[in-house]
Amino acid sequence: MIKLATVSPCYNEEAVLRYSADRLTELFSRMIADGLISPDSKIVFVNDGSHDHTWDTIKELNHHNKFVRGINLSHNAGHQNALMAGMMTAREWADAVVTLDADLQDDIECIPQMVRDFEAGNDIVYGVKVSRQADSFMKKTTAQAFYKFQSAMGVEGIYNHADFRLLSRRALDMLSTYQEHNLYLRGLIPMLGLPYSTVDDVISERLAGRSKYNLHRMMRLALNGITAFSVRPLFVVYNIGFLFIIIGFLIGLYVGYSLIVGHVVQGWASLMLSIWLVGGFILISLGVIGTYIAQIYTEVKGRPLYHIIETLS
Ligand code: UDP
Ligand code: MG
Repeated sequence: MIKLATVSPCYNEEAVLRYSADRLTELFSRMIADGLISPDSKIVFVNDGSHDHTWDTIKELNHHNKFVRGINLSHNAGHQNALMAGMMTAREWADAVVTLDADLQDDIECIPQMVRDFEAGNDIVYGVKVSRQADSFMKKTTAQAFYKFQSAMGVEGIYNHADFRLLSRRALDMLSTYQEHNLYLRGLIPMLGLPYSTVDDVISERLAGRSKYNLHRMMRLALNGITAFSVRPLFVVYNIGFLFIIIGFLIGLYVGYSLIVGHVVQGWASLMLSIWLVGGFILISLGVIGTYIAQIYTEVKGRPLYHIIETLS
């Protein structure tokens, strides 16, 4: 029987924590009764530098509830880092980890299916939002536009999947070899290349407390989601540079024609040409610099070159 750990980052979540712990405990008891998970499975709450009584609540839950474990971060490290802290701690003793937000907006009834998929040989099980009726219009449209833009920029990702997922210990061990600081788990995990499946996740309203993701944080995550994975924007500059040079030559032809026909204002030809040609050369030079920056970027990330999943001898 598998030892499961759920990992939930908590930032100022005192209003919702007790309720979330109750619901997860009820789910755990059911899954244990069904023989799906082992009785020493755990519910892990990671306190991400909260300013309210979140940590006190976690301590109290830990005291009364045998499933609950707590991890306290010294400051607000951010959602992605808090998830990483929880997963890396849980992988020491859990066979599989399910990450989910502390407000339980995700459908926790998906978890038994995730465990079954894991047992069927999937290292990763993604929760995919099938309905976003609980999300605001703003959130829904911006999120979907972002997923599309991201894939246009060549970032691998699962459409409509956030951070509700199961990872096997093997996946977690691989993940631990990525040393990057601008964490964007949704982009990293598909790079592991492990067998995966998806489950349908119906999002519900937040039961208490307020969303911690304001527009600013959302933009920062989105920007990170692209710039931490794709150097394509750098090459766009290159292409625009070439376009400028081509336009410069076309204008050159037009200038030549105007000179022959003979109605040109003094100085117009040289001005016109230099704007486009110089602009084009500057952009191409930026593209060249960008190419080297792209090289530095991939080197600095120090990502593993490969993951061996099997060797025969
Ligand atoms: N969170 C965190 N650190 C932060 C911000 C958020 O650990 O700096 C946690 C938060 O407690 C919650 C999850 O990340 O468990 C998702 O946040 P939230 O529910 O506010 O985002 P939303 O669902 O509105 O996108
Ligand atoms: Mg939420």
